[in-house]
Order: sequence, then structure tokens, then C-alpha cells
Amino acid sequence: MAENKTTETKTAETKTAETKTGATKTAAKKYVPNPEGLNLEFHQACLATGLVNLQQCVECGLHRHPPRWYCPSCHSAQYRFTPVSGRGHIYSMAINHFTVDAGWFDDLPYTVAVVQLEEGPRIVGSLRDAGPGDVRLGDAVQVTVEPRGDVFAYLWVDLVAP
Ligand SMILES: [Zn+2]
Repeated sequence: MAENKTTETKTAETKTAETKTGATKTAAKKYVPNPEGLNLEFHQACLATGLVNLQQCVECGLHRHPPRWYCPSCHSAQYRFTPVSGRGHIYSMAINHFTVDAGWFDDLPYTVAVVQLEEGPRIVGSLRDAGPGDVRLGDAVQVTVEPRGDVFAYLWVDLVAP
């Protein structure tokens, strides 16, 4: 466990912000999860390729997410993680006006989006560089990964010009 805490400390983000008086302060660090099992495999695949990866059934080729031990179509236990386009559209979203993670205070309000990927599965990520009023259901987006240490990748959602 001590090793995990070291990883979190190394990977947490530190941000400096200027206050209204012109003084600078160091904002709180964003929490970086420490995934295990299949979720760890997912994040490691994303980190290794720099791309969104999905679990894919070796037997029938079906993509699935979040990662599961068995294929929901053919029940095979054989799988691999494969890079995918990251292209999709906004299926659903939630606008967060409150957070318990002090590292996100400066980002409020921020939007968490459920993206319907072209490959089929849906994936959750944070909308980047767009306010809550800038996005509508069905808008085209691109999901990208951003490494946060050795075992976790943030998933960002960017609007794509029509
Ligand atoms: Zn299958």
C-alpha cells in the first residue's frame, strides 16, 4: 500500500493559480485513482498506445466497455485490448456544480460526458475546453487519453467542429 501512495503523490497534479489580490497560491492536487484488475489492464493499454483502447473479444471481435471477464455475445473468456478511434458523439452528460475533490474546485462547473463511440461501446470522460452551455446531446466529439502516472489515464472529451 505504501508503494501505491508514492505513485499517487508522484502523479497528482499541482496547479498554481493567481488570486484576486495578485498573490499566487498552490491549488489542491487532483486525486488520481489506482485501478486494479481489468480496469488496470484498460488503463495500461491506453498508456502504452497513447490512444483510447477497448476490450475486444478474440472469438467474435465484439468491443466492450467497461472491461468484463466474459464476452456478452459469445461468452468467450479470451480478450485483448485494441486501440480505437476515440470518435463518437455525446450520448449523455452531467454538469457538476459541486465536487468533494478540492483539486477540481477551479474547474467548476465542469461536464462529465458519456460518449457513444463509433466502435459501439460507451465511455465516460470529462469535457475539455468547453463550458456546460457549449455542448448538446449528439455533438461530435473526440476522446483522448492523458497519462497520469504509471497506472492511470484521464479520458478527455473534446468537441469536434462539424
Ligand atoms: Zn465474443
